[in-house]
Amino acid sequence: MTDKLKPCPFCGRFGHEANDQYATGGEYCECEACGIVLKGGAKVWNRRPIEDSLRAELSALKEQNAGCSRALTKLMTEHRKLVEGVEIMLKMNGCFPEHADQLRALLPEPPEVEHD
Ligand SMILES: [Zn+2]
Repeated sequence: MTDKLKPCPFCGRFGHEANDQYATGGEYCECEACGIVLKGGAKVWNRRPIEDSLRAELSALKEQNAGCSRALTKLMTEHRKLVEGVEIMLKMNGCFPEHADQLRALLPEPPEVEHD
């Protein structure tokens, strides 16, 4: 046996062992806590198809979340530059009087504060 055994797939406790010889001659693993016996050794004992699937899904979601976070950071940076540009144009008194209301409309509303 070369693979490290995971906790028991049925009770989650440690206290299992793997031997090279089962009564029928093959490898097996046994949980000393709940008594379950699986023929096939560590590869069978350590197989966790649902966990493996969930880990793969979690990894993909984390990668997707990181991409969204990068995109949001880029958008916030661009938004900040746009707001600064609008504010500079508004400070240029008299240059764009006919567009002042349109420029003010581009500025973001102050964020709403949640009340308990
Ligand atoms: Zn067990």
